[in-house]
Amino acid sequence: MRTVVSALELGRPRGLRDALKMLRDEGPLTPLAGCTDLYVLLNAGTLTERRFVDLWPLDELRGMAERDGFLWLGALTTYREIIASPLVARRLPMLAAAARTVGAAQVQNRGTLGGNIGNGSPAGDTLPVFAAADAHVVLASLDGERRVPFTAFYTGYRTSVRRSDELIAAVEVPEVDGRQWYRKVGTRAAQAISKVVMAAVRAPTPRVALGSVAPTVVRVPHTEALLARAAPIEEAQRALLDEIHPIDDLRSTAAYRRRVAANLLARFWTDTA
Ligand SMILES: Cc1cc2nc3c(=O)[nH]c(=O)nc-3n(C[C@H](O)[C@H](O)[C@H](O)COP(=O)(O)OP(=O)(O)OC[C@H]3O[C@@H](n4cnc5c(N)ncnc54)[C@H](O)[C@@H]3O)c2cc1C
Repeated sequence: MRTVVSALELGRPRGLRDALKMLRDEGPLTPLAGCTDLYVLLNAGTLTERRFVDLWPLDELRGMAERDGFLWLGALTTYREIIASPLVARRLPMLAAAARTVGAAQVQNRGTLGGNIGNGSPAGDTLPVFAAADAHVVLASLDGERRVPFTAFYTGYRTSVRRSDELIAAVEVPEVDGRQWYRKVGTRAAQAISKVVMAAVRAPTPRVALGSVAPTVVRVPHTEALLARAAPIEEAQRALLDEIHPIDDLRSTAAYRRRVAANLLARFWTDTA
């Protein structure tokens, strides 16, 4: 049964500082951005949180820019904005490719990067991009900002190092040197959650990240090392299968995911040769 909306509380901050103060002094509060993930839970009656803070008015968390050599992406950046951005097309085309595969127009207009990261689903489409790009997450609190490497952000299935008084303010992506590659495999080409998703960079030491094959998004360092020393792709594929831990669930089977992940690795390698 749908969660009763009148039992929910929504705080409307006047700005970022106000939001951070609410999180610290009035918590626990759940951040609410585009609400595309939270609304699914509300509709299914599985939303356990009752008190929220609305991030949508916080313009400080909007926008995309080049800052000190990094591509700065505000947490409230939507998929639509990413798809339309010449800056993202130039610096991080694999993120634009990921954004194009997310949901359909409604979700692309409303869903945000901060929400994708905050939700922490291992199937989140942007997560392998940030893992492969060696990005870091900017966390803001009243104490200031701290930067966490994206690959150290998640501590387990849907858990992260974010404290309850912190917000994801932005993602910062360094210059990516090398050809970028992205592929999502789902039940169909659009409106599908991934069965396996891979983002990779053909750098001198290639970087490969996968989603939907473990409790969190994963990098595969042994596979990357084999690719770096031009080992046969079959050897790299065997290493990859040792480094991922997919499960059977309602979207796919572990066996299928393993086979697809190995195929995607070979495809990445030939496509970027
Ligand atoms: C029909 C449909 C299709 C979808 N298709 C896809 C898809 O193809 N690929 C995909 O990856 N996802 C998909 N999603 C999931 C969802 O749209 C994305 O995860 C989206 O990016 C969530 O962003 P949001 O702003 O709506 O998050 P919200 O629902 O507002 O929040 C999601 C979670 O993140 C937390 N959060 C949000 N912002 C912050 C912040 N700044 N700091 C800290 N925590 C924060 C919230 O507390 C909550 O736990 C789909 C959802 C729907 C309903």
